[in-house]
Amino acid sequence: MAVFDTSFHQTMELQTYLYALPYEWYTKYKIRKYGAHGTSHKYVANRLSEILNKKDCKVIVCHIGNGGSITAIKNGKCVDTSMGFTPNAGIIMGTRCGDIDVSIIPYMIKQTGINYQDIDNVINKQSGLLGISGVSSDSRDIENGIAEGNERCLLAQQMFIQKIVDYIAKYYVLLEGVDAIAFTAGIGENSINVRKGVIDKLKVLGIKLDEEKNNIRGQEQLITTKDSSIPCYIIPTDEEVMIARDTYHLIEM
Ligand code: AMP
Repeated sequence: MAVFDTSFHQTMELQTYLYALPYEWYTKYKIRKYGAHGTSHKYVANRLSEILNKKDCKVIVCHIGNGGSITAIKNGKCVDTSMGFTPNAGIIMGTRCGDIDVSIIPYMIKQTGINYQDIDNVINKQSGLLGISGVSSDSRDIENGIAEGNERCLLAQQMFIQKIVDYIAKYYVLLEGVDAIAFTAGIGENSINVRKGVIDKLKVLGIKLDEEKNNIRGQEQLITTKDSSIPCYIIPTDEEVMIARDTYHLIEM
């Protein structure tokens, strides 16, 4: 049994998964958005549907770990996701840069003579939280750095939070409103500060954090107030269960 972490994203429409590059790059080289973390996004979206007791719902799932992606899901199907042709697109990650102006790459090749393998290494292994902080790719180290007054750790976390907010805002408009937002994976489940930073920046949408409920790690929990316009949850992901369920459904068919 093989489960592709991209398969959940196959419901995206052509206009969403295509890049504005020569069309032949798509037909000949299959250059398009594929997304990743699909198994996790599917599990969390299913769980939200159960919690809301609503089969047809619009949700945004924030899978934020060392790698991270945000997905807009309508009626159980992926509408858009932040990762792209590779996982190095979308939000800032532990060591990946996420979205950048692609013309930086040829510019830096010209400036420094760096070769494509080395630049691939920089954008995937030396960027993100590590690249900005200069300290670590691990959000626990970043939070310790902030507590010690390290300004680059603070900058890294602020940039990290902003990018997540950018995608939530974009998907809120794309879905024309959402029924719920979920945080999952290592940082989403465990970082009280990142969740607070994100939700506080969403107050313009009427979303209100319940600080007491948010003060928890690794457990399923509603973390917004009763009068919040949109409920936000921590949903610990369970990719293994999703794989087992998919396998069971295949055998049943
Ligand atoms: P993952 O790739 O899902 O295993 O997530 C790894 C990320 O989760 C790392 O950046 C960890 O620092 C982060 N993480 C795990 N536990 C905590 C915690 N208690 N507080 C903040 N971040 C955490």
